[in-house]
Amino acid sequence: MDIGIDKDVCIGAGQCALTAPDVFTQDDDGYSTLQAGREDGGGSPLVREAARACPVGAITVSERVG
Ligand code: SF4
Repeated sequence: MDIGIDKDVCIGAGQCALTAPDVFTQDDDGYSTLQAGREDGGGSPLVREAARACPVGAITVSERVG
């Protein structure tokens, strides 16, 4: 899957890192970023939960085609 984080929208609430800590973390400025090696979500079902948990809808998840 493809995971997008709109850092212009992210407010650094940290809900994504709390919900799916295997995939999301926070950078030095507190904004969401993906864990190294988990750019594809690692098959975690929590990725969609994290996208839903984000209060500002900064996370987009789409299935990779092909
Ligand atoms: S939950 Fe949303 S606003 Fe909060 S750190 Fe994650 S992407 Fe940013």
